Amino acid sequence: MISVQPSDVDRILDEAIRVQQIPAPTFQEKQRSDYVCQRFVKSGLARVTQDRLFNVYGRIPGQGAPPVVVSAHLDTVFDLQTDLTIKQEPHRIHGPGIGDNSLSVAVLICLKQIVDRFPEQPRGDIILVANAREEGLGNLAGIKAVVERLAPEHPKAYLVLEGADQDRLYIRGVGSQRFKVTVTTKGGHSWSDFGQPNAIHHLARVAAALADLTLPEDPKTTLNIGMIQGGRSVNTIADSASLLLDLRSVDEQCLKTLVNEVAHRIDTFACDGVHLSREDMGSRPAGEIDPDAPLIRLCKRIYADHGITDLKLKAGSTDANIPFSKHIPAVCLGLTYSENAHLESEFIETEPLGTGISILAQLLQQIWKI
Ligand SMILES: [Zn+2]
Repeated sequence: MISVQPSDVDRILDEAIRVQQIPAPTFQEKQRSDYVCQRFVKSGLARVTQDRLFNVYGRIPGQGAPPVVVSAHLDTVFDLQTDLTIKQEPHRIHGPGIGDNSLSVAVLICLKQIVDRFPEQPRGDIILVANAREEGLGNLAGIKAVVERLAPEHPKAYLVLEGADQDRLYIRGVGSQRFKVTVTTKGGHSWSDFGQPNAIHHLARVAAALADLTLPEDPKTTLNIGMIQGGRSVNTIADSASLLLDLRSVDEQCLKTLVNEVAHRIDTFACDGVHLSREDMGSRPAGEIDPDAPLIRLCKRIYADHGITDLKLKAGSTDANIPFSKHIPAVCLGLTYSENAHLESEFIETEPLGTGISILAQLLQQIWKI
């Protein structure tokens, strides 16, 4: 068992800050991607390359067995104007995006030095990927492109890195589908044209019907109307109104059923003088890995060896959704603990990081044995 040294942790934390200082809102990852690309080359990774979405790839060569992919998303929820100033305390580093997900990207950059100390060369390549478009309306497009590109190599597993929740493994991907529903009518004057269809009245009926749908509790399935807008003035018959709808389920079939039901409900509201449209705002597929799968059993053993005996197996919406949906073994794991992710007050705990890196190193040494 190789030990992770304090110098590894320091190196990773320094690198995490350098990554965090480069803004990388979803769809604007180029600058951070270019930096990572250059660091991958410098750290001696093989076959370093970037794709058109600014996903960055590099490899630690193995002995020819199918590869294992270790990925971390590049993008953040923070816009280009966000103040990225770092504040360091003895056991904490504060800064927007430091845990989600600069720390994980830094681990990719620094991993080769650790793998080089393994007693044996990995059986297959370790493919390191810093990918774009994980957050928000990125809809996991970055990892989708990665999984497609690497499919011919039949990766053995995907290990998706996040900076938070060290005692949790994400083993189920919550699927989601988002729609914008728009009602348009001719509109008119509230008094003189009274009786003409009103887009807001109509949309409100649609919204009420959707909110009244009965959803399964198990598998958990949800519906949320998160935004509603429309109209011109208080004395105008609204000619346009729209809502944003978010549908989720841990079960792909339940999600599909719900999507069909929603579409059907909406269609029943079409009538003379009223136009209804449904625009697809993106989706994330559901999927999972069996909690008894060899990869999860291996994780449980390694975490227990590191003193984490109450490992929690969770459902979430992470890059692991994509390999899950293609039945490729995958898991999303957290390298340390953090608080306030997606807020400017985000910080990470630095003490547990050594454990997180050691867990990853153990996984990479044992994963080809399962
Ligand atoms: Zn994240």
